[in-house]
Amino acid sequence: MMAAAARTYRLGEFHPFEGGGRRFLYLVPAGAIFEMDAAVAAAIEELQAGAATHEDLLQRLAARNFAPEEAAELVAELAAMHVIAPHDATREPLEAPPADFPLQSLVINLTNQCNLSCQYCYEFGEDKVATPQGKPKFMDLETAQASVDFLLAQSAGRRAVHITFFGGETLMNFPLLREVVAYANRQAAAQGRTVDFSLTTNATLLTPAIIQFLSDNRIGVTVSMDGPAELHDKLRVFANGQGSYAIIEPRVRALIAGHHTRPITARVTLTSGVTDVVRIFRHLKQDLGFHEVGFAPVTTAPNRLYAIGDRGMDGVLDQFHQLADEYLEFALRGEMHGFSNVSDTIAELYQGVNKSHPCGAGLGLMGVGPSGDIAPCHRFVDSDTHALGNIKTGVDRAKQADFLNRGNINNKYDCHTCWARPLCAGGCHHEAFVRYGDTGHANLHYCDWVRDWTDTCLRIYGAISAQNPDFLEKFAERKAL
Ligand code: SF4
Ligand code: SF4
Repeated sequence: MMAAAARTYRLGEFHPFEGGGRRFLYLVPAGAIFEMDAAVAAAIEELQAGAATHEDLLQRLAARNFAPEEAAELVAELAAMHVIAPHDATREPLEAPPADFPLQSLVINLTNQCNLSCQYCYEFGEDKVATPQGKPKFMDLETAQASVDFLLAQSAGRRAVHITFFGGETLMNFPLLREVVAYANRQAAAQGRTVDFSLTTNATLLTPAIIQFLSDNRIGVTVSMDGPAELHDKLRVFANGQGSYAIIEPRVRALIAGHHTRPITARVTLTSGVTDVVRIFRHLKQDLGFHEVGFAPVTTAPNRLYAIGDRGMDGVLDQFHQLADEYLEFALRGEMHGFSNVSDTIAELYQGVNKSHPCGAGLGLMGVGPSGDIAPCHRFVDSDTHALGNIKTGVDRAKQADFLNRGNINNKYDCHTCWARPLCAGGCHHEAFVRYGDTGHANLHYCDWVRDWTDTCLRIYGAISAQNPDFLEKFAERKAL
């Protein structure tokens, strides 16, 4: 090992940002946040002009009135934190997760049928990857029970596991959902473990009895909803073209009024012409009363009519900034604002995530389709190309390894110089497949957008940590799916 005194240092890899009047560094190799005081700023300034030997750096700090021990301590601390690095240091690849990484969450697609015909749907729309021909439309009890057994067997060591119910339209198979909840609770309890449940629905089939069941069983609910009627009804329509807003609005109100055990979330898909983020947020949060609202631009090939162009995405970003500013005002008063795009990123920053993969797909999370085929996540369910085995025969470890290997940040060379990679890690595998035909391709069409948004969340995080640090404790457990 080279003695520190013989080293030549350069600046390490970090992204500087400010928040609440303080300066911070986002340390990229560690995915960690480091507050920058005057001493750290001085050392960084000295290296901004170029590399310096250890001795040279100490002398430059001495010229800034640092005592010798103080300067040596500072340089040692900055080297340990990788704020400065030996000039010939190379990028350390992130350690790959172990091959037997335990499962944490299973997304069970109870049906691949839907009573809506949303044109942008990744399951039925023009960019779909599913090949459901010849496969069951509804999951049966045997497959569902085998799925629960699979989750419990593959999650050894985890006391709590998570099941998300998905579709098609999930509630088209509500009788099975009830049975799965009872079965999973029984099986988990017999092992001294617990299961946490959630579901995603278009809300068309909600009834008072279903709402009661969801509340009684602490099942988290996400409603796919795109805003007030004239926006929601542009693409979220029945097969005859009729919009679904009028059907779901009273049901959503009943859900929010009647479900008392978990927050209710709206998930908005932004498309061309449905980009009024602030207006949509106000309607869903204030008029309807959702606890949280999250937005995602539609996943699509760029030439679709409903794709959002660059100008549209710039407008979305401006409105995200507006809601983020409001979020900060709320947080400084100790209140949750409800814009989940900020909360999800703040949680990742608080937890110090440094991702080898963009999400848990194929790793701690898998999807199961009505046929029992296992997929990396719900978006790949029923796709022969992406199947990772079957619930009856188990995971095809070679296919899983190939999927994970291609999605690993170490193999996404375009991302290796990007400071946002600890959080982004190249972005959604499904979107990469739709855009580039390869789940392991970096989603390079939105890098500037992602970096801008990540910087915004860092600034909010910094301001909260400076002015109301206790608020951040809310994010210790939060996980985004
Ligand atoms: S996809 Fe783009 S923003 Fe994301 S890590 Fe790679 S280079 Fe950075
Ligand atoms: S980010 Fe994409 S690949 Fe990952 S779980 Fe979500 S939809 Fe699936």
